[in-house]
Amino acid sequence: MGGNTLLEFRMLGFDIKLDTSWLLIAALITWSLATRWFPSVLPDYSQMSHWLLGALGALGFFTSILLHEMGHSVVARNYGIPIRGITLFIFGGVAELDHNPQTPKQEFMVAAAGPLVSFLLGLLFFGLGGMVQSAELSAPFAAHAGIPLAAVFRYLFIINIILAIFNLVPAFPLDGGRIFRAFLWKGLKDYGKATRWAAKTGMFFAYALMAWGAWDIFLGNYISGLWSFFIAMFLHNAAKASARHYPKK
Ligand SMILES: [Zn+2]
Repeated sequence: MGGNTLLEFRMLGFDIKLDTSWLLIAALITWSLATRWFPSVLPDYSQMSHWLLGALGALGFFTSILLHEMGHSVVARNYGIPIRGITLFIFGGVAELDHNPQTPKQEFMVAAAGPLVSFLLGLLFFGLGGMVQSAELSAPFAAHAGIPLAAVFRYLFIINIILAIFNLVPAFPLDGGRIFRAFLWKGLKDYGKATRWAAKTGMFFAYALMAWGAWDIFLGNYISGLWSFFIAMFLHNAAKASARHYPKK
């Protein structure tokens, strides 16, 4: 990623790096949870508790992205592909594989593992939220910790389902684009051509997301608009770079 590493640790045999740029997204998530989400779902709670819950939500978001990348990494490692490391940075996470998957099936399995983990996490948080809420209603916790905790779980349920769906959009280099490339690769029996086609859909999606971001900014939603715009630029550049690796012969 070329940035500065803020923190580095090992987990399940993987090198996990936290890029300094991650701080910005952590701050943004905490801020938007503390000033919008929690005040609207927990209006009776103090501003202080909104900020604490916001930080807890950001931590849960971080863990969710990490587990998503772990999903890709564990499957890749099972296929004998060494993992250089997992980096969490401003636009999410990336598992750096030492080399590309060797067959369409490998590519499909490695790509699908991340969204599958996010989807399962979504279900888990949905279940936890329901459990905590009903436990609170039947036997209120001493400090009424159940209701705010349920709100954090509900946020993490929504965010993981969004992560699963967004990543499944068939726009390379998103996971869905990799799944799309796996099918093209199997059908065309030409990895280079499959990559060029998948990259084209990726660039098309990036333009659509840019337009969406611009529209959002026009409506006055500056942060989310700029966010969409920057993610789109990042995706566009990554798709273009991958296509350039496999020029038409
Ligand atoms: Zn992924």
